[in-house]
Amino acid sequence: MTSSIESFDKAIISRQPNFNERKTRSEFRKVIPNLKTVVVHCFDPRVTGIPAAVAKALPGQIYPGEVFEFVGDDGRKNIGSNTTIFPVVVAGGRASASAQLSISVACHLFDIDNVVVVHHTDCGGTYFTPEGFIETFKEEFGQDITDLWDGDDMSLENFSQSLHRDVRNVRHSRGTPRHVNVYGYLYDIETRELHLVEKNPGDPNAPRGAAWR
Ligand SMILES: [Zn+2]
Repeated sequence: MTSSIESFDKAIISRQPNFNERKTRSEFRKVIPNLKTVVVHCFDPRVTGIPAAVAKALPGQIYPGEVFEFVGDDGRKNIGSNTTIFPVVVAGGRASASAQLSISVACHLFDIDNVVVVHHTDCGGTYFTPEGFIETFKEEFGQDITDLWDGDDMSLENFSQSLHRDVRNVRHSRGTPRHVNVYGYLYDIETRELHLVEKNPGDPNAPRGAAWR
């Protein structure tokens, strides 16, 4: 007999009796205790090497690291990871709305120092224009996506502009803590090398979560 979906729902931590959100948050940090860096990159299956390349480019980073079991203070078995990098995988590696939610959630749950946005050469996002995308989508699927996303987030016409826009948008989002460093890199799909295009250091005096100290 397979488990019902309800039995999985009952295990959701925030539904437990006496759920203590702040304590739970500091406990959850222990499952990935070294997490420091969010890497936003493209969903192209040829560029899955990007997080490992970032691990080499930035000091003190580990990716993919190891997944391990440990017993928590509450006696429960947990699954942990010693990676320092959280990949956020989206079309074109564009750091727009959904990627920014992932950045904010990562900063809520973990002690994040860096957000790294990576675009790559030969990206599918360089093979179409926003206008062509909207027009063809309407022709083929009969649906108008004009106002769903900003045209400047849909495709990649110029790497320095796309990286500049994404680094700026992450930096100026209220969902990005001000102490976080924001980087923009171009990944060369042939040489598998990263080229630093933008660097926007965080403010070391900005407020930072007290739960981590
Ligand atoms: Zn791509």
